[in-house]
Amino acid sequence: MLIVQKYGGSSVADPERIRAVAEHIVRTHEKGDQVVVVVSAMGKTTDELLRLAREVSPQAYGREMDMLLTAGERISMALLCMAMIDMGVHAVSFTGSQAGIVTDTVHGMAKILEVKGDRIREVLAGNGVAVVAGFQGISTDKAITTLGRGGSDTTAVALATSLGAQVCEIYTDVPGVFSADPRLVPEARKLERVSYEEMLEMAATGGRVLALRSVEFARNYSVAVHVRSSFTWEQGTWVLEEDPKMEQAIISGVTHDESDAKVTIAHVPDRPGVAALMFRALADESVNVDMIVQNVSTAGHTDISFTVPREDLGRALKVVEKLSSGIEASGVTHDEGVARISLVGAGMRTNPGVAAKMFEVLAAEDVNIEMISTSSIRISCVIQEIDVQKAVRALHSAFDLDKGD
Ligand code: ASP
Ligand code: MG
Repeated sequence: MLIVQKYGGSSVADPERIRAVAEHIVRTHEKGDQVVVVVSAMGKTTDELLRLAREVSPQAYGREMDMLLTAGERISMALLCMAMIDMGVHAVSFTGSQAGIVTDTVHGMAKILEVKGDRIREVLAGNGVAVVAGFQGISTDKAITTLGRGGSDTTAVALATSLGAQVCEIYTDVPGVFSADPRLVPEARKLERVSYEEMLEMAATGGRVLALRSVEFARNYSVAVHVRSSFTWEQGTWVLEEDPKMEQAIISGVTHDESDAKVTIAHVPDRPGVAALMFRALADESVNVDMIVQNVSTAGHTDISFTVPREDLGRALKVVEKLSSGIEASGVTHDEGVARISLVGAGMRTNPGVAAKMFEVLAAEDVNIEMISTSSIRISCVIQEIDVQKAVRALHSAFDLDKGD
């Protein structure tokens, strides 16, 4: 069988880790499986390269930033191959460009358009192991591009799709996807399987195990993903299609995200076109707006609140402050001390009362809900950041997530 194995930065953080990973790949290969490996940059290399760039220039020049950042993955792929060659395996490394990963032209956030993979297939045909640098490709304009932070997951899933791999194994420093962040909830359990939809909701609401885009990719092409530990090598969590024969857990996990800020524009005139004007202006400044709440209007005016990533807050405030005087709103306030907690579970679709219970649990903990948003399998609340730990713990236990399947 053909397996794609992706190793994250902590899995290849130092020479010992690189040799341990090489041994595992060689074991898999010796069992008779074909292996294509995707590696991230060692440890915190990408962060260090980013810091280095900022020290040289405050400008982030797209083309040169990407050229710089892709160097991290080159280092780890070459070292990993050296370790495998020492073990007698025909291992060959490829940059994203050499592997034929073609992207659009958006530096720093490129999307994969096509994976050619010819040279990878050649190595496999020669009984070798191909190691591909994660998180990068070559654009249709022939510039080196990167796929955004955490993009090696996407490289792995894209390769698994185009090569027709049976499984895409994502090796990381945790044993899988948990019912909550174990640092916050010691009783959190490793989930045996989650559906693509659940994983998407978790990745979008603070579950840090898989990059969001890689899950979208896996869902769109039905790639079986196995998230597991490169430290213990135990069975991890499978991310798969929902199993129609299995009863879905009402709640699979509780996630939290402390990276957003809330902006409120008070006393906005309630007439057609005002929201359009405001959110168009925000979009034009590339502010990534998430939850939006508009109050019932009283006397022709309403309040609008929305959340944005904290790093977009400065830009968001500039845009809405400028606009709010034009539309005669009474003022703009913001709060950086907020967080979002979410319940995710496919069984929510067919079980009423989940929202009611969530709100009751939060009320019993004296946690105030500032905003609410839902999808068919998720309920999120914005609360104060200081309340996150008690809220997540209370929800985890109220929905029996510490009890096992
Ligand atoms: N090295 C890149 C990052 O740190 C890509 C990755 O690890 O997936 O974001
Ligand atoms: Mg990573």
